[in-house]
Amino acid sequence: GTDKWVADLELLKGLEPLAKDDEFVKKFAAVKKANKHAFVGFAKDHYGIDIDENTLFNTMVKRLHEYKRQSLKILAVISTYADIKSGKVKAEDITPRTVFFGAKAAPGYYLAKMTIELINNVSRVISSDSAVKGKLAVHMLPNYNVEMAQNLIPATELDEQISQAGKEASGTGNMKFALNGALTVGTLDGANVEIRERVGADNFFLFGMTVDEVEAQYANGYDPAKYYEADPRLKQAIDLVADGTFSNGDRNTYSPLVADWLTKDWFMTLADFSAYMGIQSEIEALYADELEWNRKAVLNVANSGYFSSDRSMEDYLERIWHTAPLA
Ligand SMILES: *Cc1c(COP(=O)(O)O)cnc(C)c1O
Repeated sequence: GTDKWVADLELLKGLEPLAKDDEFVKKFAAVKKANKHAFVGFAKDHYGIDIDENTLFNTMVKRLHEYKRQSLKILAVISTYADIKSGKVKAEDITPRTVFFGAKAAPGYYLAKMTIELINNVSRVISSDSAVKGKLAVHMLPNYNVEMAQNLIPATELDEQISQAGKEASGTGNMKFALNGALTVGTLDGANVEIRERVGADNFFLFGMTVDEVEAQYANGYDPAKYYEADPRLKQAIDLVADGTFSNGDRNTYSPLVADWLTKDWFMTLADFSAYMGIQSEIEALYADELEWNRKAVLNVANSGYFSSDRSMEDYLERIWHTAPLA
């Protein structure tokens, strides 16, 4: 039958030539739209939130950890919010976006819990600001678990894999998203490296420092304040966290987080901020071309069969355990 790929995921490779077939790509795009529509219903039922399905669905779901750099994403969201609100970006240049976060943190992990609180407060402030209505929304979805993943990953168009280069052992979320037709914005870290090799550099939004550049920064004495001073957008975003914009005017609420960013920033979020903002225009230009975006999404699916757990187990049998399957 046509469903052999379910048990032999590398058969997805057969889709590759269809990325050139406009009619196929349009059907693929319609499936993604249907998945977005379904997630809007899921989110209404489970979280009681209203989502505009005619926005770019942009997702960052994973454990909350400083090395994974949810801070980088929320600072970028804050910067975009400030630019839209001030009129710095013209209305016709705005790509309406919905940003979804999902993350759990260890109970004693103070900065991680504080980051979740900040995301929730940015969400609250943005959702109550009529100046950005229909242009930008942020949701911190509670209780990230497999059920949420099963609903959100197929609905996602842009996936965030923005950890500091050298820190992620592999990641599996990145594979799930590529397999489900999302494009990835990511660093050269963990399995992002192999995903990019498989799907093609043209079909992956790469940004940020390499492992070698990170090592050189540690060796030379990394100074985050330098980046804060050098990039006005970064400075503005951090200043908005510091000045109480997201904490009802209370400047103390986020002072531990702000102090960490400006004096320590062990995972070099500030150093990668400019590059991260830089790639957004590339992402938005491609998103404006629905057919081209979906062509690249098809190529991501077609080349993700390699990340099947069956293939991975066969690799273990051969290279690690030196044995053969039982049947
Ligand atoms: C895949 C998955 C993860 C791991 O995500 P990474 O991005 O690889 O860190 C964590 N939690 C859930 C519920 C998942 O489905």
